[in-house]
Amino acid sequence: MEHVLIIVGIAVVVAGGAGAIAVPLVRRRGEGAAGQPGAGSGRAGTGTAERGQARPGAPEAGAQGPGGGIGTLPPAPAGPTAGTAPPEVERPLPSAGRLARLRGRLARSQTALGSALLSLLSSGKFDEDTWDEIEEILITADMGATPARELVDQLRTEVKVAGTRDPAQVRSLLRADLLVQVRPDLDRTLHTAPHGDRPGVVLMVGVNGTGKTTACGKLARVLIGDGGTVLLGAADTFRAAAADQLETWGSRVGATVVRADREGADPASVAFEAVTAGIADGVDTVIVDTAGRLHTKTGLMDELGKIKRVIAKHATVDEVLLVLDATTGQNGLRQARVFAEVVDITGIVLTKLDGTAKGGIVIAVQRELGVPVKLVGLGEGPDDLAPFEPEMFVDALLGD
Ligand code: GDP
Repeated sequence: MEHVLIIVGIAVVVAGGAGAIAVPLVRRRGEGAAGQPGAGSGRAGTGTAERGQARPGAPEAGAQGPGGGIGTLPPAPAGPTAGTAPPEVERPLPSAGRLARLRGRLARSQTALGSALLSLLSSGKFDEDTWDEIEEILITADMGATPARELVDQLRTEVKVAGTRDPAQVRSLLRADLLVQVRPDLDRTLHTAPHGDRPGVVLMVGVNGTGKTTACGKLARVLIGDGGTVLLGAADTFRAAAADQLETWGSRVGATVVRADREGADPASVAFEAVTAGIADGVDTVIVDTAGRLHTKTGLMDELGKIKRVIAKHATVDEVLLVLDATTGQNGLRQARVFAEVVDITGIVLTKLDGTAKGGIVIAVQRELGVPVKLVGLGEGPDDLAPFEPEMFVDALLGD
């Protein structure tokens, strides 16, 4: 029997532009009785001036799932449930300038690295020991042995050629060399835009505990803040808590969440349903959270491969974002390697950069995978996820 998928949505009444009243709608997919009203999508997101918001109590359409059996939906309540205040739907600020806002957190944890480097460089004593120490500091910051050696060799040559001992000049050479290693040339565009009537699809992958589910919720806020509409798919079916967490994220910003009703349901099926609902709803982007169990490489490959294949029946997977915890160093890099072997990663979300002085991991992981860090997590707050900006990152590293 096809398992039941639950769609939780928020319908919003926009009252004369004076704010929003949210009406919670809970819908079940797969169990709706035939003949119930509505031939629509069952998501918050159609029929009103603003996409992603639905009329309260409006009949909604039922999307067709793989078994053709996503039933129609029970009618939505006509208004807020008596006695319970409807949740306010938040409108996050646009993502532009976020890293600038969060830069203090980056600087706080990274300046140890910057000041150690700068104090060595401003000593004006450029002997073997000094260069060795500089290399060691870079390696300690998780930059990786090869990039650290390259940077030191480069800087050493430049200092020699310039014949300078001026701390300001040496510092600006260091800044330029660090920037080269952070690769400002990489394309960090997040591909989340719809293709005609098909939503952009983002798969979030990574090991449990890295901040993967949180990253899905935060990314939804980024996209909604930038004017898009989002549907979340809770395909981490091994942890009910992850789906609950996504629902909380979704309800705060009025994003529909598609989830299974039981632990252990087929993740690919949830992903399929999420994309199906996303198409029916006309959302811009579907973000799919996946299970983060690093059981066996083959198991992971099968699971992620199947998810990608079923989604491809309907839409294109535009981004596969690997979530890595910046505080886990070599262990994180090992995880990255495994994921890169089983799925084509298009970008990295580096979380918990606020909690480590080891910002060099940005350089190491990009080099390891050959894909750019696109987003960085800088705290536990809902809007503490920012598009990565190399220049600002290097400046924060050097304590500018
Ligand atoms: P998952 O198991 O990978 O889905 O991880 P969760 O999304 O549940 O997050 C695990 C923990 O990491 C939670 O307590 C999050 O609040 C925390 N977390 C996630 N991202 C960040 C971040 O950028 N900075 C900090 N300090 N904590 C984070």
